[in-house]
Amino acid sequence: MPNNSGSFHLTILGCSGGPITGTTCSFLLKPASQDYADLLLNYQNTKQGQNNATTNTTSTSTSTSTNPTTTSSSQAEKTRNTSKDCLVLIDAGCLLNSLVQMFTDNSSFVNSLLSMYPDSLKSWTQYTNETNMAVSSSPLVSTASPVMATVGFPTPLQLASQFANMINSFLITHSHLDHTASLVINSPVFQTVKTIFGLGSTLKALKAHSFNNSTWPELPTFFKYAQLNSGDVSRINPFFECQIYQVSHGELEKTGAGHCSLNEVNGRYESSGFLIKNLETEKYLLIFGDIESDSVSKLDYNLKIWRSVSDLIVQDQLNSIVIECSSVDQETTEHLFGHMTPSFLIYEFLTLRRCCCKKIQQEESELIAPEASLQRDINIPYPIAQQRQSQHP
Ligand SMILES: [Zn+2]
Repeated sequence: MPNNSGSFHLTILGCSGGPITGTTCSFLLKPASQDYADLLLNYQNTKQGQNNATTNTTSTSTSTSTNPTTTSSSQAEKTRNTSKDCLVLIDAGCLLNSLVQMFTDNSSFVNSLLSMYPDSLKSWTQYTNETNMAVSSSPLVSTASPVMATVGFPTPLQLASQFANMINSFLITHSHLDHTASLVINSPVFQTVKTIFGLGSTLKALKAHSFNNSTWPELPTFFKYAQLNSGDVSRINPFFECQIYQVSHGELEKTGAGHCSLNEVNGRYESSGFLIKNLETEKYLLIFGDIESDSVSKLDYNLKIWRSVSDLIVQDQLNSIVIECSSVDQETTEHLFGHMTPSFLIYEFLTLRRCCCKKIQQEESELIAPEASLQRDINIPYPIAQQRQSQHP
């Protein structure tokens, strides 16, 4: 995503649901005002200060308020709290593997992935052309070399591990492995406490099925759990706050999960999306994990979100929406497994447009539109695909 908003800098570490490991869903977010190289150097200096403080404290028998080691430690802590704590990982399907690839030979790695998919024949260079503002080459590539030289990381894996320890906040949309695997597999390098934000169903499933001392150790000293209810707003770090929204991600019987799943709500798998606010600029980013259309679930989860963010769109405060669309259009919804298709995505955005239009009409007329008019939206038996097929047999 281009750094054209002045608010959010989002790096896509992975965006697939398999079958290849190491590239599953994970998004690294920082405020655009912060620079990766500065963050790394600052973190390294802070860590060095803390190490010096520890060494000096253990080597002296007395400690007073004027002890220079105490001053150094408090300054380091202040620096740590004010500028380093700004990285957020949204979903955690991958982390170290993608960072290492980005620090080394990103283009050949991405090209090898693209070559696996018959509908993605373009080379990576076509996506990273400087005239194409839709996708920019990884900022981490340019960050890696000078920073590695300056702070002396011998290997890309050590630098990636440093990044992992600069991320204190994880926003997890749901507990499927392609959104959580790095929490488990990468945990051996975690040296700082990670706060995991998510719905109760997501956190309960993580504890019950991942960190349960059977699948993986419980790791109680590594993770703090911040359980949110749909609609809750929570401060993530000094730069961001988030609001979480529940969404639907497929019928449980059809995903094979059965009806005893911890994630079942209204007979469907509960996932979520996050509306993230940059507290410096008061701009917003809306980002989803896996999600299905209201016209499939017959629920109104998405409609409620569109209604909520339409205000922000009308006020020009919503910078971007990141949403999955991982299935092609199909004759039926039987094999979508709770995912979007292009036609359903268009349906959702048409609904969002209607919400915005109504908001503008309300502002202009200062009248409140009847609820029933919007409620009708979710009852439209959509498929644009079907409409298109009937028009163009
Ligand atoms: Zn999923």
